Amino acid sequence: MTDFLSTGTLPDEYRELALTVRDFARQVVAPVAAKHDAEHSFPYEVIAGMADMGLFGLPFPEEYGGMGGDYFALCLALEELGKVDQSVAITLEAGVSLGAMPIYRFGDDKQRQEWLPQLTSGRALAAFGLTEPGAGSDAGGTRTTAVLDGGDWIINGSKQFITNSGTDITRLVTVTAVTGQTDGKKEISTILVPTDTPGFVAEPAYNKVGWNASDTHPLSLTDVRVPQENLLGERGRGYANFLRILDEGRIAIAALSVGAAQGCVDESVRYAREREAFGQAIGRNQAIAFKIARMEARAHAARTAYYDAAALMLAGKPFKKQASIAKLVASEAAMDNSRDATQIFGGYGFMNEYAVARHYRDSKILEIGEGTTEVQLMLIGRELGL
Ligand SMILES: Cc1cc2nc3c(=O)[nH]c(=O)nc-3n(C[C@H](O)[C@H](O)[C@H](O)COP(=O)(O)OP(=O)(O)OC[C@H]3O[C@@H](n4cnc5c(N)ncnc54)[C@H](O)[C@@H]3O)c2cc1C
Repeated sequence: MTDFLSTGTLPDEYRELALTVRDFARQVVAPVAAKHDAEHSFPYEVIAGMADMGLFGLPFPEEYGGMGGDYFALCLALEELGKVDQSVAITLEAGVSLGAMPIYRFGDDKQRQEWLPQLTSGRALAAFGLTEPGAGSDAGGTRTTAVLDGGDWIINGSKQFITNSGTDITRLVTVTAVTGQTDGKKEISTILVPTDTPGFVAEPAYNKVGWNASDTHPLSLTDVRVPQENLLGERGRGYANFLRILDEGRIAIAALSVGAAQGCVDESVRYAREREAFGQAIGRNQAIAFKIARMEARAHAARTAYYDAAALMLAGKPFKKQASIAKLVASEAAMDNSRDATQIFGGYGFMNEYAVARHYRDSKILEIGEGTTEVQLMLIGRELGL
């Protein structure tokens, strides 16, 4: 752990982790990325390889089967994976930062002992069920209810767009639900729902624009009965706890976005050197070289933004504004770079099997998930007292 993180002076343990994940991404992830994207299939074999490397346990203590690292280590892994396949990267991001982290942060001893070892090993996945058909940016609009009946919660409602919620290795979804009213306001709590509980159904997967190898489902919960002890954290604190998880998650999404932005630069540099038109490599044209230089600048600036937010978080200082800034600029860098990279690749850039075409389709969701661009602007404005 360090107070100061700079792109040029990463401590050895971080640099080595990034290089190891980079090798894995090139050798194992990249060769099958186009196939899983085309087939809309979940890359079980790749995820198992990441599990073997300990990536799902990166920021958790060894007593829970983790690697004893920190959140910045997770971000570095996400950046490297995001360069070659955003679907694989979001599977890790959602599994760790949205799936396991709420249990680590807010769970009691029993919940941590029961769930964390399976989740940190990467052999099981947990999902984060906040969004509903009528509650996205305005997540407080939750309509799902949980009512105590004897010693059990009875949960009814539906969730929408939930990542990792329907794979063969998904074991748990943490859901927000209205558990009562306090001073005329909804009391929202979080409850652990094992996916084999009767009444819990992961509906058929969505047909998405991108992130085709990432698993996303609507969920329906009909008279789902779980023990009272499945309450995660304090009753009525569910919404506030999830917001804390989303603050952290924005740094992770920023790291993934930086990976996407940098992946577009790397592909473009290679292609601009190789591809010839009018008797010379297209990169010899300043119009192309300038475009790529600007792409590199966007990726670099976004990287420093997420390093800064992560450094504040690791130092235990307020990081909400910096996390939103990092998410905002990094997701825009990914979208802008993927559009420019597609242009540099010409007609090939429009062919789905090319990595830049996949980044073009995949990057749009980075400006929407875990808080839209407008939500980030709202949060930054609030931090400025507006
Ligand atoms: C592939 C994918 C994976 C996802 N994974 C998960 C997951 O694992 N768990 C989970 O809980 N959710 C998940 N989500 C949901 C995601 O977080 C939401 O889609 C997102 O927060 C936006 O909510 P919404 O879709 O309801 O849009 P809305 O909130 O309806 O917003 C629609 C538009 O209005 C804008 N808007 C809303 N309010 C304002 C305002 N006050 N001022 C200005 N503009 C505003 C928004 O920025 C947006 O442009 C996922 C979504 C997708 C597509």
